[in-house]
Amino acid sequence: MIIAIDGPAASGKGTLARRLAAHYGLRHLDTGLIYRAIAYALISKGVALGDEAAAVNAAQGLDPASFDNPALKSHQVGTAASVVSAIPNVRAALVEFQRQFASKLPGAVLDGRDIGTVICPNADVKIFVVADPRVRAHRRTLEAHGRGEQADEAAILADILARDERDQNRTVAPLKPASDAYLLDNSHLDIEGGVRAAIDIVEAVRAGRREV
Ligand code: C5P
Repeated sequence: MIIAIDGPAASGKGTLARRLAAHYGLRHLDTGLIYRAIAYALISKGVALGDEAAAVNAAQGLDPASFDNPALKSHQVGTAASVVSAIPNVRAALVEFQRQFASKLPGAVLDGRDIGTVICPNADVKIFVVADPRVRAHRRTLEAHGRGEQADEAAILADILARDERDQNRTVAPLKPASDAYLLDNSHLDIEGGVRAAIDIVEAVRAGRREV
């Protein structure tokens, strides 16, 4: 089984995807880490994010071992990732890696922005996770506080809105639900509630029901 989980930044889709993968015994790929790894490679070398040749080079030499680097999780790297991910040739260089991951048994949960639309258009289940931007900014602020970091909620909200805008309006693989995706609004759900709602969707699809 292949499950595609897409949605905007800080929507909670990452946690949902991890939990779904554990529940169904599937492999999990957080595809945001791919774009973050490329952005981080450029930042570390002092190369401009708009340097297409360097970005494509980093995409072609992608090393999944680098995904474990905690530095990839930072807000700055996330924002930089949304810049490099808008370069069409960078995305093109990464399609095969993601499809290979998805095709290995026993199946996988991939989370990202274009899994249901571009990477795995034939996924068995597609879920598009949304949440109110203010709720997402608040959750990110609490997470930062939990790590002992300072966080300015208004600045985080502005950044989330700018990232949504960039992800939704890029010419290649823009962030949007696939026509056969189920929408899951987790603005008012806690983690357990979101996981239950996602499992309900998967079970309904597996049972062949149209309505969830
Ligand atoms: O999900 P995450 O915040 O880690 O993603 C960082 C950035 O990478 C996103 O804002 C988006 O621009 C880009 N991305 C993408 N396609 C994906 C996953 C992430 O364009 N499948």
